[in-house]
Amino acid sequence: MKISRITAYQVDLPLHEGSYNWSGGKSVEVFDSTVVRVETDQGIAGHGEVCPLGPFYLPSYAAGARAGIAELGPHLIGRDPRELDRLNAVMDRALKGHPYVKSALDMACWDILGQAAGLPVCTLLGGRFGDDVALYRAISQESPEAMAAKVAGYRAEGYRRFQLKVGDKDGNADTDIARIRAVSERLETGDVLIADANTGWLMHEALRVVRAVRDLDVYIEQPCESYEECLTVRRHSDHPFVLDESMDGIGMLLKGHADRAMDVVNIKINKLGGLTKARRARDLCVEMGLGLTIEDSWGGDIVTAAIAHLAHSTPARNRFTATDFNSYVTKSIAEGAPERRNGRMAASEAPGLGVAPRWDMLGEPVIDVG
Ligand SMILES: [Mg+2]
Repeated sequence: MKISRITAYQVDLPLHEGSYNWSGGKSVEVFDSTVVRVETDQGIAGHGEVCPLGPFYLPSYAAGARAGIAELGPHLIGRDPRELDRLNAVMDRALKGHPYVKSALDMACWDILGQAAGLPVCTLLGGRFGDDVALYRAISQESPEAMAAKVAGYRAEGYRRFQLKVGDKDGNADTDIARIRAVSERLETGDVLIADANTGWLMHEALRVVRAVRDLDVYIEQPCESYEECLTVRRHSDHPFVLDESMDGIGMLLKGHADRAMDVVNIKINKLGGLTKARRARDLCVEMGLGLTIEDSWGGDIVTAAIAHLAHSTPARNRFTATDFNSYVTKSIAEGAPERRNGRMAASEAPGLGVAPRWDMLGEPVIDVG
């Protein structure tokens, strides 16, 4: 089987809530997503998606994803899409770094492998652990009262895990303390609360916050910009600790584990470079006894399907949370994607990723290589 053509499509994904706001006043209103279609000489086609969280979250941006896919496309024509490690070696040789660029291409080839094998990607990634996967809901940064009200609303929809976007836009740690306290008061036994500063606190702010909420049952996620700052905060705190932005590859996972820097790792598929490398990172974290948030930087139905396959194939004990990004956006770009039920989702049992793009939503290709 050989790759015969690669096309890519740009699609805008507006948010139900109107905007998504996180640390330092960063905000996105419409997500700029890219869908990749990889066709083969045997009639099977696979699909992937990459959607950076704006141009100022990770070192990635939507136009960069498309420029990179156009750059890599010609290197993949004629290759066997089922040989995922070989394919990744080709991509890494052709383009140094830029993991997010490779993610949708890798994802599309997993979709092809699954269809060729007649198996869901979840099975190929290790098998299905449990009936479904618990989801968290990200609570966009607003006033403490507004965030508490949002949590109550999403709780009524079935979510039991909530990730608060802290890292106050005005650098006011007191407001972040109030956010965590206001939400905590609304929670019930069995609920899980995470305060994610997305690198937004200076160390003195982070140290004040963890001390002020010491009596509360809350996870602290990526408080500061650098790994070293996060490690310092971790050593002055007794909250369970999640690292996300700093954990961008196997080297950092090993370092973090050696330093006992975190209890949970956030694995975003495109941060690692696709399902192949996210699976590698996932498996290492499982061996190291870490909890895992399995997700991506953002996306629509295709990204959500890929998350569901990777999360569902993660041992339940290690699986901390996952995300149903397709429920945050107003537009459906594929049929067959996971649908949340009671705050949980499951990977499709159809071969591959189990999704079929809605071509009327995607328009004409912006990249066509073949
Ligand atoms: Mg995070």
